[in-house]
Amino acid sequence: MIDLTAQQIAEVVGGTLVGDPAVIVTGSVVTDSRLAEPGSLYVARIGEQADGHDFVPAARENGAVLSLTQREVPGNHVVVDDVQDAFAGLARWLVDEVEGLDVVAVTGSSGKTSTKDLLGQVLGAVAPTVAPIESYNSEVGVPLTVCRIDRDTRYLVAEMGASGPGHIAYLTAIAPPRVGIVLNVGSAHLGGFGSQQGIADTKAAIVEDLPADGLAVLNADDPLVSAMAERVHSGEVSFFSLDTERGRTDERVHAWAEELRLDESGRARFTAALRDPQHPGAEERHAVALQVRGAHMAGNALAVLLAARHVGVAPAQAVAALAEATALSRWRMEVTQRADDVTVVNDGYNANPESMRAALEAVRDMAHGRRTWAVLGGMLELGPESAAHHAAVGRHAVATGTDVVLVVGEVAAPIADGVREATAEAGQDGPELLTAKDSEEARTMLNERLRPGDVVLFKSSRDSGMRVLGDLVAGMM
Ligand code: ATP
Ligand code: MG
Repeated sequence: MIDLTAQQIAEVVGGTLVGDPAVIVTGSVVTDSRLAEPGSLYVARIGEQADGHDFVPAARENGAVLSLTQREVPGNHVVVDDVQDAFAGLARWLVDEVEGLDVVAVTGSSGKTSTKDLLGQVLGAVAPTVAPIESYNSEVGVPLTVCRIDRDTRYLVAEMGASGPGHIAYLTAIAPPRVGIVLNVGSAHLGGFGSQQGIADTKAAIVEDLPADGLAVLNADDPLVSAMAERVHSGEVSFFSLDTERGRTDERVHAWAEELRLDESGRARFTAALRDPQHPGAEERHAVALQVRGAHMAGNALAVLLAARHVGVAPAQAVAALAEATALSRWRMEVTQRADDVTVVNDGYNANPESMRAALEAVRDMAHGRRTWAVLGGMLELGPESAAHHAAVGRHAVATGTDVVLVVGEVAAPIADGVREATAEAGQDGPELLTAKDSEEARTMLNERLRPGDVVLFKSSRDSGMRVLGDLVAGMM
């Protein structure tokens, strides 16, 4: 963060300073007292589990020189009515204070972290860039990320997540984007929203209030996302698409993929075709080789190319940086080659119906004739439609030609029904279908049945544990 005195911080957040007005916050801004270091500002949030005020002494012990609080605590502190509002206000003030800063924000149901990791590396190759660590995408994660900017920061990458109506608008008020990217809408966490349209309405906020020199980057292949173009009042709109035909024929598509394929470890290779609205009629093509895996990553990369171009990074430069960019976050299409030539694909960071489909397709496309396995656990938080969503995944496993489907655990059980139904409908041999009551049983089955050449996908929601099983099978634990 920019060095600020306690007095300045009190003024910015409209709070009452208790203690030394001259003390300077020179270090990080933290909400976790364990992460405080000398010079930190400790933000005492009142969370669901704990009250941050109880940890003020711990933060001070670690070196925090100032706390942001709602009541009297030991040491220098600024008292405000609402810590969250003040924290958001401080972050917004910083964004406005740093001259020449461009905010590039990403939302979507799947792929936000994957995309912000690519963006951070592409923009970071060119100029000082701050990007979120892990999946910092909430009302806490976004201001924490913003508070890492300095006067020389040129680009701020923001991941914006929503679990209820209005969440994205809250985040864009903290870090107003010059470029807003919407990857997909999907059905994740339908519960909080009521409908897919409700999710779309919330996410559209990332492109609704762009500045006149802003850009909305929208996925042309997702109808609810492409419809957001109508809600962009100012700034330009660029679509990206994985559909070559759509790219060639629809002038509004400014980046599309041609000759997309996955290599044997799932890395996407394609030609990125680009139109520049500044130069009508002209097209550029660049060969792109990604380190990250899955065809969906090509879509993410196209969004990155458009966003980067708009904030001054030429496509050739961005393509070179993309070739170097790696997955910074674990369990996203993470590939491990075992000594016995079994390929473990661990995509078990999390799962929803869209990312399940994307992963099944990725494994199909990278198999190049090898036998494919899908070891699938439950997707959580899907509400009353949960069984139907799982069955649809089973059907998709059949449609993608998965050779063996291993369904793990109770929540995932309807996947097996979907496999059976789709197989019966197709009237031909479907996948071999195995079920295990838990990860332990699944592991035993895998140990007995895996053979050289197999490509094995592990995927489920985080708490359904397939990422751990994947690590075990990969020999990483
Ligand atoms: P979260 O909401 O949990 O933060 P996220 O939106 O940040 O999720 P990632 O962590 O990037 O998403 O990826 C989640 C899963 O979606 C991974 O399994 C990843 O391989 C897959 N994925 C990445 N990009 C896409 C995409 N464009 N479409 C569908 N799935 C994707
Ligand atoms: Mg994320």
